[in-house]
Amino acid sequence: MNQRLLFWVPAVLRMAVLLVAAGVFWSMFGFEAGLVLLSLALVVMLFIQLRYLDQLSTWLDDPQSARLPDGWGAWTNIFARLYRMRRDDERNQAELTEWLARFRQAMHLLPDGVVIMDDVLFLEWCNPAAEQHLGLQHQRDKGMRVTNLVRSPDFIDYIILGRYDTPLTLSLRERKLIVQIIPFENRRQILVTHDVTESERIEEMRRDFIANASHELRTPLTVIVGFLEIALGTPDLDPATRAAHLKLMAEQGHRMQNLIEDMLTLSRLESLDYPLKVERVPMPAMIEQILAEARALSNGKHTITAEIDGPDVQGSGDELRSALGNLASNAVRYTPEGGSIVLRWTMGQGGPQFSVQDSGIGIDAKHIARLTERFYRVDKSRSRETQGTGLGLAIVKHVLLRHGGSLQIQSEVGKGSTFIVKLPASMVV
Ligand code: ADP
Repeated sequence: MNQRLLFWVPAVLRMAVLLVAAGVFWSMFGFEAGLVLLSLALVVMLFIQLRYLDQLSTWLDDPQSARLPDGWGAWTNIFARLYRMRRDDERNQAELTEWLARFRQAMHLLPDGVVIMDDVLFLEWCNPAAEQHLGLQHQRDKGMRVTNLVRSPDFIDYIILGRYDTPLTLSLRERKLIVQIIPFENRRQILVTHDVTESERIEEMRRDFIANASHELRTPLTVIVGFLEIALGTPDLDPATRAAHLKLMAEQGHRMQNLIEDMLTLSRLESLDYPLKVERVPMPAMIEQILAEARALSNGKHTITAEIDGPDVQGSGDELRSALGNLASNAVRYTPEGGSIVLRWTMGQGGPQFSVQDSGIGIDAKHIARLTERFYRVDKSRSRETQGTGLGLAIVKHVLLRHGGSLQIQSEVGKGSTFIVKLPASMVV
């Protein structure tokens, strides 16, 4: 039924009943009795209305749905409607609070920075990522102009020019950021920052790798093509020169083959879905084999010995053999004739340890941290002379990373180097 009818019908009925009762009284006990009854009834009704008005006014001071009084007459309907409105309000408010909490949490977890500013660039709110990217502090900087807080000429120019449809690449606080301003509502703007430092670094590494690999492959290829052109242009080349050329070409061909093999190994080791084939590795036997290979490579030019006293381990036999073999071959290649090399396999306190100590050319301290970078060499020409690909130590680093191990390098120029591989104790069988 219509709310107004719900209000008026009972009210009119009540008034009619009262008037009829007063009429009956009048006819039975005279006019005064009827008037007294009517006045009394009106006073009582007025009192009831005032009482409910008072209850309503008290409730409005603290309007909780649970505290709403029950009513009488038309008040029952009014209180019921107020109760429903209030309950809906409370539910909406609870939902809103929950949404706000979720929004805040999402903004806290967002890796991108978000700053809300008004139309004259005063900071209203920012999330923790924006604090980190731009060096802001929400509580401290609230109400301050963003251009006074982020003091970068590029950023200020971007804001002044107002060409917000293209983002700005900004170098700030040793980070590379992509910054964009998005106007929203009438008088607000959102500043979004995206940190691309890491992806730029990876992109740069990728570019460097391609440039280095191409350069490394081009050098031997140039030699081979050069000799081929000589052979084509000089059909009557004497057999001795031709044989010498063929020997050099074969050497360069092997160099390219080694390089491509190392590049493939490295890319396999770096790939996240290349599984580690764990097996029992008989380390003493493997080190004996590495010793024999080092001696073969040295061809009697060095004194090479081994002290083998460590356990077998659980790991990838192929990968460990390639890593440890690389260190031994480096020792041979960077130790002048007559030098000595010692391979050691021991069980240390923290876990098993392999080391290669040589009395070779040594490495200046400034190079040591960069030796495991791909294609990093202290002396390029020496590395090429010794058939180095520049990828050996990068392979060692990745194999050790995959096994939870680490590489330590101690070296002194002119005296020699020691490369120490530390493996975790959990690998011991
Ligand atoms: P490469 O194929 O050039 O030997 P590596 O990655 O194996 O590449 O080694 C990187 C560089 O580290 C080498 O070019 C060399 O300058 C230096 N190096 C590695 N091992 C030794 C060593 N035992 N003594 C001196 N220098 C070394």
